[in-house]
Amino acid sequence: LTDKVMKVAHLPCMTRDGKTIEVLLNAGLSAGFEHSAKLGALGIGLYRTEIPFMNRSCFPSEQEQTKLYRKVLQAFPEHGVTMRTLDVGGDKSLPYFPISEENPFLGWRGIRITLDHPDIFLVQVRAMLRANQDINNLEIILPMISGVEEVDEAISLINQAFFELKTELVTDINAQLMSKNSSNDELTFQQAQRKAQKTAAGLVRPKIGIMLEVPAVIFQMEALAKRVDFFSVGSNDLTQYLLAVDRNNSQVATLYDAFHPAVLKALYSIAQQSAQHGRAISLCGELAAQPAGAILLLAMGFDKISMNGHNVPRIKWVIRHITLAQAHTMLDKTLTLTTPKQVHSYLNEQLELLG
Ligand code: PEP
Ligand code: MG
Repeated sequence: LTDKVMKVAHLPCMTRDGKTIEVLLNAGLSAGFEHSAKLGALGIGLYRTEIPFMNRSCFPSEQEQTKLYRKVLQAFPEHGVTMRTLDVGGDKSLPYFPISEENPFLGWRGIRITLDHPDIFLVQVRAMLRANQDINNLEIILPMISGVEEVDEAISLINQAFFELKTELVTDINAQLMSKNSSNDELTFQQAQRKAQKTAAGLVRPKIGIMLEVPAVIFQMEALAKRVDFFSVGSNDLTQYLLAVDRNNSQVATLYDAFHPAVLKALYSIAQQSAQHGRAISLCGELAAQPAGAILLLAMGFDKISMNGHNVPRIKWVIRHITLAQAHTMLDKTLTLTTPKQVHSYLNEQLELLG
């Protein structure tokens, strides 16, 4: 990264006329967090929990997961950390949980698997809640949502995990304190109660959001907004599903394009609907890490974008060199274009003008 870019890493991601968009990190392994914090990310926009599940021979226990998630949450104690529940299937497989099917990207993936296996989901959510105790920067996001029933089911499992854990914590502490002091007098009982209450209060129910990556959600935003606190677009999958192009198939790679007019219009509609229903909207796919993508998302009204750490300073630099008015002009013009080719040539031209 050049010096001029690194100089802005710690400055706010703000246009010349004062419009800000938060820049966060995408992560999946704990290594490298400190370095990324140095690059100026304001928290984690997407922690892909399936990644630490991959290089193993069995599912990690609740205790193992708690330890891992705690490290992640502690890396950004002042900022939000959005953890995604397990998103396996599609192209991501676990050696100890084989899935064999004809169209994996249209098959058993993400929330579909964890709702069919509430045991896996509950252990993971319990570990997240435990890890979050007394830090309280956790937000939970659900992958591959295509309808409201999945959201209702997932939220009811999260509530179950939360209330069971709270009860267990209080019972455990009471038991511990009572066994330490067998005299069982009034004072000990009160101390135990206070400690138990404090511990229970340290366990908070986090905000819950969903990934917008299956096109069907674009037409259910109102009902979804009633159920969740925030939305985050997975533009990698949204592009794949909107254009019916496998994101990993080189044969059709030229058709896979997040700057396709249909994808941009979908993003614009999502941003407008989120604002209309009063929900925060972010984007955590690769599009956010491209300068023209970040400018368009800013103009559409996205609150946050998240990306790999090394892209953070560059995106900040670009945003800090434009005005919101310029971004709006670029968006307005882009939305009138009808082919991906026109979009790319127009945006490249504009970026060159910006230097
Ligand atoms: C996405 O789909 O854009 C996304 C961020 O999730 P993943 O790449 O892990 O599917
Ligand atoms: Mg995805």
